[in-house]
Amino acid sequence: MNDNETINISQNIEQPFQYKRGGLQKNNYLLDETTEWPCPLCNPNSQHPNQDKHLKTERGVLGVVKCKKCSLIRINPRLTNPDAVYHGKEKDYFEEFKLIIEGKKEHHRDRNYLEDLNTISKYKPGHAEFLDIGTNTGSFLRLARNRKWNLTGIEPSKSLSNLAKEWWGLNIINSFLENAELPTNHYDIVTMTDVFEHIVNPNELLQKVSSIIKKDGILFIKVPNGKFNLFKHVVRKKVLGREGTNDYDAYEHVCHYSDTTLKQILKKNNFNVLECKIALPVQIPMWHEHVGQYYQYKAPFFLDWKGSLGRSALYHLSKIERIMCCGRIGHLAPNIICIARPSK
Ligand SMILES: [Zn+2]
Repeated sequence: MNDNETINISQNIEQPFQYKRGGLQKNNYLLDETTEWPCPLCNPNSQHPNQDKHLKTERGVLGVVKCKKCSLIRINPRLTNPDAVYHGKEKDYFEEFKLIIEGKKEHHRDRNYLEDLNTISKYKPGHAEFLDIGTNTGSFLRLARNRKWNLTGIEPSKSLSNLAKEWWGLNIINSFLENAELPTNHYDIVTMTDVFEHIVNPNELLQKVSSIIKKDGILFIKVPNGKFNLFKHVVRKKVLGREGTNDYDAYEHVCHYSDTTLKQILKKNNFNVLECKIALPVQIPMWHEHVGQYYQYKAPFFLDWKGSLGRSALYHLSKIERIMCCGRIGHLAPNIICIARPSK
C-alpha cells in the first residue's frame, strides 16, 4: 500500500476516515520491516529475554513494552528505519502547509513553539549559537528568527530540509547529527522539540551533543509524556472497553520517556537537569476528519470542542497532580520539557 496517496485507517476506531498526508505513514507493517532492540536506558548492549513487559501491539507488529528493570516504555520490535516516514514528496507537504506558508494561518503548534522559545530565552536571552536537531519543515525554528540567536537546523530528510530552506530561508544541514561535521564546544543552545522520542540511539546522540555544546550551553528537550500515553491506553481499555490503535504513535515514537527516565538518560550521558516542567498540550488539527486532507493549521473550536476542552482540563489537572506527587510529573501531563547542562 502506498500511503503517500491515502492513509486508510478505517479500522481505527478513533479516526475512522481516509485522509491524505505528506509523510509515508502506514496502518500496518510487516515483521521484516522491524528490528528487535534492547532497552537503551539500562541495558543498551545486550538482549535479556523476559526483561520487557508487553503492553500492547500497534499497527500490526509494533510491540509496546515496558522495561521491568528501569520502567522505560519503548517500541519493541520497532520499525528498522522509523525516520523513513519523513521522506515524503515536497508537493504533498506543501498541501498540508500552504496557508501557513502564505501567512494566512498559524501553525497549530505555534502556541507550543512560543512556549518553548520563551523557556529557552529565560536561560539564553542574548546572542547565542542555536542548533535545532530534527528541524522537520522548520515550523519551530521559523519562530526563533527574530531573536538574537544565530540559527542552524539539522534534518535527515532531504525533502523536509529543502522545504525549511525554501519556505523560511533557514540554514539547514541535511544529515543525521551523528554524521554531521560540526564544531566542538560551539553551541550555546541545542534543541530537540518533539524529536528525542524518535531517536533509536539516544546515548550516541547525547554523546555527540555533549561534544558540540559549550560547557555553559543548554540542551532543551521536549517529549510527549510516556506516562500520559500509558494513561490513555489504560483508560480506553479498562473504562471504555476498547484498545486505542495509536496511543503510542508506535511507527515513529520509539521511546516513551517519563520525567524520571528522561532525567536518567540525560544523567547517564553527562548532563545535569536544571529544570523539568509540564508543557502545554498540542491541540491536534481536526481537518482530516471532515475534509479528507491533513492540514497543519488550527481547525475551528467547534470541530473538536470535546477534545480541546479535555486536553486543556488534563493539562491543568496535571499541575495539581504534580503537587500531590511531591514534584514528580504524573500521568495527566501531556508533554515534558527538560532543560539540561553538560556536566563535563
Ligand atoms: Zn531498561
